[in-house]
Amino acid sequence: MTTDELLEWDQTHLWHPYTSTTHPQQTYPVASAKGCVITLEDGRELIDGMSSWWCAIHGYSHPILTSAITEQADHLAHIMFGGLTHRPAVELGKLLVERILPEGMDRLFYSDSGSVSVEVALKMAIQYQLAHGRRGHTHFATISRGYHGDTWHAMSVCDPVTSMHSLFSGTLPAHYFAPQPRCAFGAEWDPDDLRPMRELVAVHRDELAGIIVEPIVQGAGGMYFYHPMYLEGLRALCDEYDLLLIFDEIATGFGRIGELLATYFTDIKPDIITIGKAMTGGYMTLACTVTTQEIADTICSGEAGCFMHGPTFMANPMACAVSKASIELLLSQDWRGRVRHIEQKLRDGLTPLQELSGVREVRCLGAIGVVEMKEPVDMERLIPDFVEEGIWVRPFGRLVYLEPQFMAITDDQLDRLIDGLSHVLRAHDR
Ligand SMILES: *Cc1c(COP(=O)(O)O)cnc(C)c1O
Repeated sequence: MTTDELLEWDQTHLWHPYTSTTHPQQTYPVASAKGCVITLEDGRELIDGMSSWWCAIHGYSHPILTSAITEQADHLAHIMFGGLTHRPAVELGKLLVERILPEGMDRLFYSDSGSVSVEVALKMAIQYQLAHGRRGHTHFATISRGYHGDTWHAMSVCDPVTSMHSLFSGTLPAHYFAPQPRCAFGAEWDPDDLRPMRELVAVHRDELAGIIVEPIVQGAGGMYFYHPMYLEGLRALCDEYDLLLIFDEIATGFGRIGELLATYFTDIKPDIITIGKAMTGGYMTLACTVTTQEIADTICSGEAGCFMHGPTFMANPMACAVSKASIELLLSQDWRGRVRHIEQKLRDGLTPLQELSGVREVRCLGAIGVVEMKEPVDMERLIPDFVEEGIWVRPFGRLVYLEPQFMAITDDQLDRLIDGLSHVLRAHDR
């Protein structure tokens, strides 16, 4: 197949995320990717500003990760997890418990994608309430502008306006939404920020199983960073009303925001954590839902006698092996220093864009730099210009953002990302 034939087949037959078959989006054929450079079939090279949506952190085709996965493929690529276990699953679990997760959060359920790990978390909370005899506690409270995945219950706790609620209304389980926290990360804390959530929980106390949020960083729902004290307030509310507190750390986990988990920006622990995305360094899909022994044992003491879930590809050995290698590689280096350095460079480089008439706000946290525009951007015009600049940046809505592979990107590559992005936004601002 020539590249043109490949593209034509792709446009005719393959759906890409959120695309139409009648008006397909332009797609760029990737021949290879190494480090932070994506090479297209026509030979053009793009510096990666997206980490393939939070996932890749060490650079594409990292020799250590590649050998972890190929060695694993050589002797055990996959095996069912029902009734069987294996070293990669156990060793990864031990590493997560000993080095990544908060103390006491040591009961793990592996699954094959972030959305599924959120479904698992919500089911855990409902089974937990049932085991305590609290029937009817099947709803969740959350905050606006969240994103938790595209499967049924996961999308039901996504932002009700910007996601698919109106489209699927009537078929989605109803949940309760408090406004997005007003106090931003780094701003002064105002305890009044919690009032709407407190009122909402008090009203729906007899229906709620838990509260689910993305801690500190709201990702695909708005790239917004809020105050850690809000999370401490949620903890107090959950304790008061016997609700489970679920932190969806799928985007925030594994160092991206300057801590291994957003939880560590607070003095509290949630009851359930979901992790995914960067968990395998961008090699394979793998996620995990984590809770405490007390909650796990309570769930299993209920009517069902077990936790009711079991994905076919649960704990895939190649995914577990590459995840373990990725986490060990992360922890063996000064990830914290690297993230801090990148945050400073993003802040210095992107803040001047605040003077553009079309820009509403520039904000940075960890290895995330966001330029929020006043109006939704025209992706079909912006993306080709970014490609022309030799950078891979994919905005959505009003958000143009960089989230580079923080363990791999060089200063020079980061400068080129920032300069290319600035150049395009300035040109479009005229
Ligand atoms: C990406 C994401 C999900 C969904 O993960 P998938 O692997 O795409 O199913 C859920 N929650 C958060 C916070 C995410 O960023």
